[in-house]
Amino acid sequence: MRAEFRLGEAMVTTRPQELVVVGAGVVGMATALTLSDRGHRVTVIEQADEPGHGTSFANGAQLSYSYTDALASPATLAQFPRLLVARDPAFRFHPSLDPDFLRWTLAFLRNGSAGRFRRNTLEGLALAIESRRALHALTRRHHIDFAHDRPGKIILYRAAKSFAAARAIAADKAVAGTEQSFVDADGAVAIEPMLASIRSEIVGAIHTPSEEVGDPYRFCIGVQAALAAAGAEVRCGVAIDRIDADGKHPAVVMRGGERLAADRIILCAGMASTGLARTVGARLPIMPMKGYSITAAPGSAAPRVSVTDAANRVVFARLGNRIRIAGLADLGRRDAGVEPDRLDALIDSARAALPDAADYDAIESSWAGLRPMTPDSLPITRTIAPGVIANAGHGALGWTYAAGSAERVAAIVEGEG
Ligand SMILES: Cc1cc2nc3c(=O)[nH]c(=O)nc-3n(C[C@H](O)[C@H](O)[C@H](O)COP(=O)(O)OP(=O)(O)OC[C@H]3O[C@@H](n4cnc5c(N)ncnc54)[C@H](O)[C@@H]3O)c2cc1C
Repeated sequence: MRAEFRLGEAMVTTRPQELVVVGAGVVGMATALTLSDRGHRVTVIEQADEPGHGTSFANGAQLSYSYTDALASPATLAQFPRLLVARDPAFRFHPSLDPDFLRWTLAFLRNGSAGRFRRNTLEGLALAIESRRALHALTRRHHIDFAHDRPGKIILYRAAKSFAAARAIAADKAVAGTEQSFVDADGAVAIEPMLASIRSEIVGAIHTPSEEVGDPYRFCIGVQAALAAAGAEVRCGVAIDRIDADGKHPAVVMRGGERLAADRIILCAGMASTGLARTVGARLPIMPMKGYSITAAPGSAAPRVSVTDAANRVVFARLGNRIRIAGLADLGRRDAGVEPDRLDALIDSARAALPDAADYDAIESSWAGLRPMTPDSLPITRTIAPGVIANAGHGALGWTYAAGSAERVAAIVEGEG
């Protein structure tokens, strides 16, 4: 049987399928709603009591459609010896002898050439542009209140060398369709007057007026309501132990033994995707990169425009009447708990970057999460076993990429991917 339905402006004809989405972070929820909108019958299974409690909970909130630079780059490789001895306060490497870690690290190093960096960054950019269109289409179809705004973004550089490197890749990105402009310190202050107190430290900046922000947790909760209204089920508090892809239909097996078969299983379990993929014999090269965030009341010089400070590696975003600050990259750290010394390191970086952006003495909440990193900084969106599709490994840009990779999954489900 085929169904015809209206999706935005287009009529879509497809055979409705029974789909199970594992994981209710931004990736799983965007995927579930996209597929439900296309007429499929969707069940989401989430181990936490609510959607959005994994890495999606309190991330940097940036829908960073133009800033898709891959982590593996000639600049990162040049820093590697320093990272190994933990001399960089913002970026640390936690080596281990685990074969998966060694394989991942070798693949990461291979992606650090100038050519691969450029290719990975531009592939990320293509997905980001698809993603912006897809998220806007989702928000036109559903009312989801997630403090979605378009304040633009300014990336500050305090060293001529890093500004020159950023200009080089920004020129390539402009060819691919971004609208970034380069400004000096005065230009940066004209765009965001709250940068006046650090004017003398700014060597240059890149401004992108179209960049957006949104609260990922509120997005997940809003999507849960939209799915419920569409008759789709989100089952929380249920953990999947394994996926069974040997029978006629793939199935998830829950802790406790319940089995749920479907036409397709879509694996969106963030960092946990590697373990679940292994149960169907697939290896996903995903490594955790732990980061931190704080949320506070705005300070006396809180920016309205999102700010990324490249030197201090910290990002600032206005989320409604609060300011969210995120940063740190502890590669290979697997425990998502907040470590007090690393939280202090984030607060120190934020104060160094923008001393009056937030009320740093009255931080309302602090959080840590594990970015699911692939060696090329691109998500894995492909069939990994009969009837089992992975949509995982969205790294530092999962919020940005979620709606676009959801559409890529839809294309695979409907036989076009
Ligand atoms: C500090 C920090 C700042 C960031 N800032 C940004 C940003 O500004 N912009 C941006 O685009 N991205 C940002 N990111 C990255 C982004 O948050 C992630 O890429 C994204 O949240 C990944 O989403 P996900 O849905 O794949 O994973 P998750 O949000 O982790 O969701 C996976 C879900 O699967 C569930 N699950 C796991 N195992 C099972 C199981 N066995 N059974 C059932 N359910 C299971 C989990 O409970 C979880 O809810 C940031 C990340 C961090 C850490």
